Amino acid sequence: DMNPVAQELLPQTQIGDPLEKIEETLPEIIKQFRDKDSLSAEIALENPIRYLDLRISPVVDARQQALGRLVVWRDITQLKLLQLELNELATRDMLTHAYNRRHFEALARAEWTRSVRFNHSLALVLLDIDYFKHVNDTLGHQTGDLVLAEFAKLCAQAKRDQDLFARWGGEEFIFLLPETKGAQAFLFAERLGKLISETPIKGKDKLVNITCSLGVTSSNTAEDSLEAMFQRADHALYEAKNAGRNRAILWESKIKEMPTP
Ligand code: GH3
Ligand code: MG
Ligand code: MG
Repeated sequence: DMNPVAQELLPQTQIGDPLEKIEETLPEIIKQFRDKDSLSAEIALENPIRYLDLRISPVVDARQQALGRLVVWRDITQLKLLQLELNELATRDMLTHAYNRRHFEALARAEWTRSVRFNHSLALVLLDIDYFKHVNDTLGHQTGDLVLAEFAKLCAQAKRDQDLFARWGGEEFIFLLPETKGAQAFLFAERLGKLISETPIKGKDKLVNITCSLGVTSSNTAEDSLEAMFQRADHALYEAKNAGRNRAILWESKIKEMPTP
């Protein structure tokens, strides 16, 4: 008998069928490997989702003459789904599905290295929701949770594809904008703050109006550091709170930027 996975993948097939007939029924993606003599690959199939581990190795006789190929597929769907789930748990915040702080820091480190190497600018925008305690106090912590999740969705939609977005902690979020100078990052922060203040956020059956304060900084020199940038963004955010909230403040480095070649 055929094993159950093979039977599911090739429902029309019986043991002893000619190879040509089996090939006709194979998923398109596997047909691509028809001419390969040796291969080790993971293949993702859709509808239904399936992950296969495909290995092809040549079969030779004692004098190294090719006799044919050994093709082995293993269904690794369960393993793969578990792996994807573990990766989500490790890199994302479970309430908002934004990146968690640890993962953001790792990605930011890589972006920093890249920006220094190519002498490109890089910006951070740190965001803290204004008077969020009041949302919890008046509507309850559960509604507060829902508001945070909706809020994060709005932020994630507002950023560009190449920007990083993460939950920095509590009701604080952070953006990293590659290839972006301070003035542009400040414009982004002001637009985002305006969008947030104009968009009622859904929390269960309530619409909640919120504002936020934003701290912005940028860098384009190796004399600077990511740690110093985080500190400047934090200072800028603190200033924005002190100046009355619902605003963005740009805090540039005192370090002179390198002349652009
Ligand atoms: P401001 O930032 O404008 O100074 O005021 P705030 O009230 O937002 O400031 P504070 O940092 O003192 O309070 C943050 C509040 O956010 C308190 C905390 O309970 C709430 N918060 C943090 N994380 C969560 C969360 O995951 N869920 C909910 N519901 N609330 C949270
Ligand atoms: Mg706050
Ligand atoms: Mg806070």
